[in-house]
Amino acid sequence: MSESSDVRDVAIIGSGPAGLTAAIYTARASLEPLVIEGEPSSTGDQPGGQLMLTTEVENFPGFPDGIMGPELMMNCRAQAERFGADLRTEKVTKVDLSARPFSIWVGDPDAAEPTYQAKAVIISTGAKALMLDLPNEQRLIGRGVSTCATCDGFFFRDADIAIVGGGDSAMEEANFLTKFAKSVTVVHRREELRASQIMQDRAMANPKIKFLWNTVVTDVLGDDSMTGLAVENVQTGEKSELDITGLFIAIGHRPNTDLFKGQLEMKDNGYLITAPHGTQTNVEGVFACGDVQDETYRQAITAAGSGCAAALDAERWLEA
Ligand code: NAP
Repeated sequence: MSESSDVRDVAIIGSGPAGLTAAIYTARASLEPLVIEGEPSSTGDQPGGQLMLTTEVENFPGFPDGIMGPELMMNCRAQAERFGADLRTEKVTKVDLSARPFSIWVGDPDAAEPTYQAKAVIISTGAKALMLDLPNEQRLIGRGVSTCATCDGFFFRDADIAIVGGGDSAMEEANFLTKFAKSVTVVHRREELRASQIMQDRAMANPKIKFLWNTVVTDVLGDDSMTGLAVENVQTGEKSELDITGLFIAIGHRPNTDLFKGQLEMKDNGYLITAPHGTQTNVEGVFACGDVQDETYRQAITAAGSGCAAALDAERWLEA
């Protein structure tokens, strides 16, 4: 690619709430952003991000009656396009952030020439909730299976539900879920929790929370929606079925940062490091927003907010 031919001002990698908000802002600033939105894959990649895997979103401000996750993302996408964002349903296979303009490959990563070049790059590749890889898990997501208690707990009023995991997230979410559910069974593969003592104590003191130790989930049961959970005791080998209608999976998240290893500073757990109170990474002109750099809040609205910040940071950096 000759540099003069097609060097974009801004390329945005990823198209969840963070990436599409960055696209709306940079498009309105007449930067004609290129948005490489990803491609669906069997490993959980999803243009539009994690909201494409949820049903109703009731806590995104501006929608008093709620909105379906996919519809919200399609609206954001249309809003970005309306202002001139150039969206490509492609998957980035390689980046080179060591020289300017920055280079991005889709398709063959060994191709001599990059597919795109850009003066500034905004990374919004998100994170994936780790899953259990059960036979019917993906099919019943949004129909009883959830990876987000804050998002979906409300739908389990007076239900008997379970949560799998023994870390702080599982304890925090189990406590949160007791606001709605009749009972919450924590299914944990060992007989010791990984969670901090204070979170353990709080969960153990909650009369609505029960613990099922040394137990793994082997499948989610149900046709149109979840009707039960198949479990197995790892010590005795005993198999049983739990009569529950909701399963929350809280076994951790993994940020989608493999592409940037060795090029951008990241924490030991893979989350990108950004400047305090900003979205700048350690490479000038490269910004990160949304779940790829946020292991704390992980909400659509916080991702969208940081996408706006990344767009403003990129715009100011390009002007300077
Ligand atoms: P985590 O600490 O990595 O815990 C994951 C849990 O899931 C562990 O108990 C693990 O079991 C279990 N697990 C992992 N893979 C599994 C599998 N395939 N099948 C069954 N169980 C599986 O993750 P997290 O709870 O999301 O926390 C992530 C980080 O955020 C931690 O540093 C945590 O302290 C922090 N955090 C803090 C707060 C807070 O302070 N308010 C709230 C949430 C998260 P094992 O224990 O057997 O490995």
